[in-house]
Amino acid sequence: MATPILIEDVESHASDWSAIADRIRGSKNVTVLTGAGVSAESGLPTFRACGLWEEYRFEDVATPEAFARDPELVWRFYNYRRAMAMSAQPNDAHRAIAKLESSMTVPFTLITQNVDGLHHAAGSREILELHGNLRRVRCTGCKKTETTEEKLSELPRCECGALLRPDIVWFGEALTAATLLKAQAAAARGGVMLVVGTSAVVHPAAGLIEIGRVRGAFLIEVNPAETEATHLAHAVFRGPASRMVPALVERVTA
Ligand code: NAD
Ligand code: ZN
Repeated sequence: MATPILIEDVESHASDWSAIADRIRGSKNVTVLTGAGVSAESGLPTFRACGLWEEYRFEDVATPEAFARDPELVWRFYNYRRAMAMSAQPNDAHRAIAKLESSMTVPFTLITQNVDGLHHAAGSREILELHGNLRRVRCTGCKKTETTEEKLSELPRCECGALLRPDIVWFGEALTAATLLKAQAAAARGGVMLVVGTSAVVHPAAGLIEIGRVRGAFLIEVNPAETEATHLAHAVFRGPASRMVPALVERVTA
């Protein structure tokens, strides 16, 4: 395929910026897919950048096997992540995505792999959270879910007596079918797909980019580094989300 448009700063490439903004403005459908990179500038480490908590790899504490073996360890990890997410503030990229949604008159879908709740905090309304949310807990007995920002104990229990777990999709677990189907349907509508701050290696989330591409979407990537999705992109903004996304949304909504 042809070389993608590559934009590395907000001051130059004026004609490319407006061509891409026109694409979004004229599209019959807009899908935004975000990953940990969109929250990096809110102070939440990305998975690839750190991937370690104490001496444990994320993959070793974010699994159903780890929870069955040592729920206290897993809850310590999640209480730490909950505290970080709840003290973080959305950044200009989250806010720009919310602004883009409110300016749209065509179908708009925000799909996130993040579990930090920062898109909600920034004012996005419809969000497909593929991997759950740190603020939610789920009972391992009665399956009831609840949103709580309170500090939890290291072995929190439901009123039915069973252990609570984070309402997160762990490694090796299936995504909620309804959420995944909605995300796939949005990707399959084509139009424009804006992919922000994801390494595009975690499936099935990364597969949404391929669905968009085969359904003819104009694919835009925002990421300071090359990713598994770069070769599929029509346009690449090679820079931090908090600078590139607001600059793009400003041009779309101007
Ligand atoms: P990832 O860590 O694999 O990749 C992060 C990507 O963000 C990288 O490509 C990196 O180059 C890019 N990036 C870094 N700084 C950026 C910036 N300022 N602006 C734009 N992009 C930037 O993350 P992933 O692809 O989302 O997959 C990791 C998995 O880990 C996901 O399933 C997610 O649920 C989970 N996770 C979530 C959070 C969160 O909720 N904030 C944090 C860490 C991990
Ligand atoms: Zn219960």
